[in-house]
Amino acid sequence: MATYQAPQREIAFVLHDVLGAGRLSELPGFDEATPETFDSLIGQAAKLIEEKIAPLNASADAQGCRWQDGEVRVPDGMAQAYELYWRSGWVGLAADPDYGGQGLPYTLSKVVEEMLCSANCAFALYPGLTSSCYEAILACGSREQKKLYLPKLATGQWTGTMCMTEPQAGTDLAAVKTKAIPQADGSYRIDGGKIFITSGEHTMAENIVHFVLARLPDSPPSIKGLSTFIVPKFLPGAGGAPGQRNAAHCVSIEHKMGMHGSCTCTMRFDGARGFLVGAPNTGIQNMFVMMNLARIMVGFQGLGLCELATQNALRYALERRQGKAFDDAQTIIHHPDVRRMILTMKAVTEGARVMAYETALHVDLAHHHPDAEVREQAQDWVDLCTPLVKAYCTDMAFELGSLAVQVYGGHGYIRDHGIEQIVRDAKILALYEGTNGVQAMDLVRRKLMLHNGRLPQRFFAAVRAEGCAETPLGFIARPLRQAVDELERATHWLQESYKARPEDAGFAAADYLRAFALTYLGYNWLRMAKAAAASDNVTLRDTKLATAQFFAGRMLPLVPALCAILQQPAAEPMRLEDAALASAA
Ligand SMILES: Cc1cc2nc3c(=O)[nH]c(=O)nc-3n(C[C@H](O)[C@H](O)[C@H](O)COP(=O)(O)OP(=O)(O)OC[C@H]3O[C@@H](n4cnc5c(N)ncnc54)[C@H](O)[C@@H]3O)c2cc1C
Repeated sequence: MATYQAPQREIAFVLHDVLGAGRLSELPGFDEATPETFDSLIGQAAKLIEEKIAPLNASADAQGCRWQDGEVRVPDGMAQAYELYWRSGWVGLAADPDYGGQGLPYTLSKVVEEMLCSANCAFALYPGLTSSCYEAILACGSREQKKLYLPKLATGQWTGTMCMTEPQAGTDLAAVKTKAIPQADGSYRIDGGKIFITSGEHTMAENIVHFVLARLPDSPPSIKGLSTFIVPKFLPGAGGAPGQRNAAHCVSIEHKMGMHGSCTCTMRFDGARGFLVGAPNTGIQNMFVMMNLARIMVGFQGLGLCELATQNALRYALERRQGKAFDDAQTIIHHPDVRRMILTMKAVTEGARVMAYETALHVDLAHHHPDAEVREQAQDWVDLCTPLVKAYCTDMAFELGSLAVQVYGGHGYIRDHGIEQIVRDAKILALYEGTNGVQAMDLVRRKLMLHNGRLPQRFFAAVRAEGCAETPLGFIARPLRQAVDELERATHWLQESYKARPEDAGFAAADYLRAFALTYLGYNWLRMAKAAAASDNVTLRDTKLATAQFFAGRMLPLVPALCAILQQPAAEPMRLEDAALASAA
């Protein structure tokens, strides 16, 4: 069975020695968020997660959710674990104290999210979607809606959903058909069906708040004609307690590749009572307000699974005896190919952790820093890096899950070890909350173009400012400088080609996102090497420097190669007729 131990020392190293997260305590309202508070709360969360939530990961996967007598039954132990989790205050860690949250930094809540996702990613979706629903109502709801719903969502006492997808409307939400008809009392009658709704029905919480995308009569048929509605499972009565059952029902659940502990529901709204959130026809803007945070959250799910894959593969490689290795030791970690896999996993997981935490830190700075210029810079970082965190961490979760199976050999393919579950659980992360193809397009089409290209320029300047080419860290600083130069050239090419030849940019987007993420990881490994070189912890210093060396020599050189590949014209492959592609099959 896969086991999980929270990497607290590594988390502290990244937060304090690499990113200086202690500066968060200087922001207004965060004076309690000192490094000591961070470490103490991370320690408490780690204990609960390791002891109460991780042990349910394999059993929930085996048992799955069941659809019985018109109700969704979650796997055994899940409801008790959820109750313990929300009652201990972990759901509302970063929520607004005015609504029952604890008002701590977003960064801290994401560290807890990483640990939760390593331990039991399916479980993490229940509080995760609740936070998305909370964010959407916080950003766009009326004062009355906030007062009524946020205190229950902030704490996790009620759970939330995001109801967007319909059979004909996946990536293309312009095709949403669910209708909202105004009623005399100011509410709306919601009619339609949604598919693939995470946590759409269960009895773990006393109420479920659905955040639904629907179309008003006479609204434009395009994406500009969508509006958002709160549709509670139980309509709150006087005093806010759950009252009459609303006509929002789950009619079946999906049987899926992974995430078996999370219910994925087909929902019917048959004359359900809904309440408009924000102005009519602003649904897409409302969704986008919380979309950045939801995408970062999915990136953290990916990071959590990267960590789970890496620590289990490493543990196994240190124990498994097989073959006569080159230095006569018998454990498989001594085989160069196994060591290559383990170092790849460490280089990616630890490098991606810095990327994800730094992006979260910028969310805090963008929301709380007193200086408008700093807030603007931080928001630029968040906007640029959100698709990187979402797509890179989740693609890597799948790839590292696969590498972990490889390290385990045939035993990894057998269910008992719980390693194949990582691969199955990880795949969905690249698909929901905007597929990773959509993330790459967001990076190329929007983020590179905003403010005349200011976002990537700020990133390149930050990387170049790190210097170090002529120091003992030149082994990574020099290839990093080359990588950033090539990436900048590719960026200019994309900014130009996007206007003249959008197909070229569309073809190039996924490779560009990968090249960008690897450059970011190079920047992270340079900073980790610098921090480790100054440390008196000899093991930490040696391991970090060796992993930085591995990354510099074997992964960073992929950036110039990817930049060359992505600048190939797309005309030829795009010219091929559909029929020709089909006949070749
Ligand atoms: C387990 C699970 C949980 C989910 N949870 C939720 C939820 O809670 N709420 C919710 O509303 N939805 C949820 N979804 C739905 C999920 O967000 C969609 O599946 C996703 O948005 C993709 O839509 P689609 O499946 O229709 O694929 P499609 O949109 O048909 O995409 C198919 C392929 O075409 C590509 N593609 C499509 N359009 C473009 C484009 N314009 N440019 C480039 N490439 C493109 C995609 O990248 C993809 O590779 C969930 C899905 C699953 C499986």
